[in-house]
Parts: sequence; C-alpha cells; structure tokens
Amino acid sequence: MKLPSTMVVLERGWLSSNNIVFLGKDRTAVVDTGYATHAEQTLELVNHALNGRALDAIYNTHLHSDHCGGNKILQDNHNKVRTFVPVAELEKVQSWKQAELTFNMCGQYCARFTAEDVMHPGDKIRLGDLDWVAHSAPGHDPSSVVLYCEKEGILISADALWERGFGVIFPEIDGRAGFEETRATLDMIGELDVRVVIPGHGKPFTDVKKSLNIAHSRIDFLEMEPVRNAENAVKVLLKFLLLDRQEIKLSELPKLLHGIPLVTAANKFYLHYGLIHLAHWAVNQLRRSGAAEVKGNFLYNVD
Ligand SMILES: [Zn+2]
Repeated sequence: MKLPSTMVVLERGWLSSNNIVFLGKDRTAVVDTGYATHAEQTLELVNHALNGRALDAIYNTHLHSDHCGGNKILQDNHNKVRTFVPVAELEKVQSWKQAELTFNMCGQYCARFTAEDVMHPGDKIRLGDLDWVAHSAPGHDPSSVVLYCEKEGILISADALWERGFGVIFPEIDGRAGFEETRATLDMIGELDVRVVIPGHGKPFTDVKKSLNIAHSRIDFLEMEPVRNAENAVKVLLKFLLLDRQEIKLSELPKLLHGIPLVTAANKFYLHYGLIHLAHWAVNQLRRSGAAEVKGNFLYNVD
C-alpha cells in the first residue's frame, strides 16, 4: 500500500487513535492526537515525524478523548499551532463545557486545550500538498467528519469505518438517534472512490468494499435489537478504562461503572441490571472475548 510521501501514519493502539502527520512544503499538520495518558508519546512520535519542523495545525475528526487527548501537549510545545475542530464543537471547546463534551460522559479524561478554527462539512483543506474535503460523518458521533483526498483515493475515516466495523453508536444510548446516521455515513463513503482507508484505530486497509459490507451487516445486527448497541457501549467503555489502568480491583468495579454516565444510561434504558450484576456481566463479556482476565481480586487487561 503506497501513501504519498507527504503523509506519515502513526498507528497507535486502541486507547489512542491513530495520528496522521502531514508534511507539506509550506505547512505541517496532524489529524487526531490520541488519548491523554499517551500524550508524551504522541508528542515524541509527532515531533519525530516532523523532523525538526514546527507543527502548524491540528485537526480533530471528532472530540472523543482518544482523538484529542494530545492537543494540549502539542499546543504547549508548538506555540504557533492552530487547532481545527468540527464546527458544532467549537463553542463547547472554547467554554470547555464538561456536560456537552463527551469526556465525563464516558468516564474519560482530556486535558483542556484551545481551538480557534473550525471545519465545515464540504470544506477544502490543504494537507501534505494535497486537497482534502471534510465530509460530515454522523453516527458514532454526531459532529464527526472524515477527510477524503480524491486525487489519491485516500479516506481518513476516524471511527466511522474500521476494517471490521465502526465505533459505538453513542447517540443511541442516551435517547438521540444514530442508526440512520451511521447507515447514511456508510452510504456516503460507498459513493467515494476510495483506494485506501486510514481508520481511527487499526492499520490502514484497502478492501473498502469488504469493510463496508461488514459495517452494513453490523448496523443491521445492532438496529434489529438496540440492546446490542448498549451492551457493546458498556463493554467498550470498560475495556477503555482497563486499557488506561491495566488492572481494576473487582470490588471497585460496580462503583466505577456507576460513575460513568453513559454506562448508567445504557443500563437504565436497555440492560436493567442491578449494579453488581452489571459489573459481573461486563467482566464476563470481556473475559469471554479474551479482552480481559480475572486473577485473584483483580481484572486485568489483555491486549
Ligand atoms: Zn470516537
């Protein structure tokens, strides 16, 4: 798979999103910056890719903690950098509205950063001396954008399309809509002439048709029984916690889960478990899928 020499894909794990560094003649940029606890590593990796140049711009496809957690450290170390967020998010960032930013809702953390610029759907953006277009991609997140370079057939898909699926459809958990939006986003991607997808997580891939088919079956599966989406949300949020902490004392888990508003909402509207039962259920789900193991009184992350 050949990518233009003006772009560097930094493939990260699942706690931190991938970062895509652009080295244009006159301008450098990074798309998405990972999670807060990996911020030092993000700075190191991005600086290495920049090879002594200053960072001119940060673009966030959406403001989930694993996509903008490195913004602050990059801003602190590159004092001329400008930060672009989806237009619907600017005001929330500028006033740092915790209730509207998703970090607290997910039980996650993001160091406060600033933003002064926006991306509108349809905006043309020059990255790595190539023209990209921002496309609105709601579903996983209502404000998310994906970036498409027609000339090279490259799509930066964020969490709207992965090689095998897409990110949790969070809006459905707390009473907003997301299934229809997800389907429309997949259809929009299907209309583009994409050769390579650089997803928010996982390695870049080229069999776009296959991934779209997988994603379409997945949305059908979730929409048929929306409780499945809620179950997935709880599992993903616990796994994220575990990726961050590596181990969690089992006795603390019910309280910890209760402290995550989206888990509480998923349980209230869809699962209807008691707190201890919810913790047991979630632990067993992660164990069954090989994402965690229990030893003694602790739950441990398994990569
Ligand atoms: Zn996301």
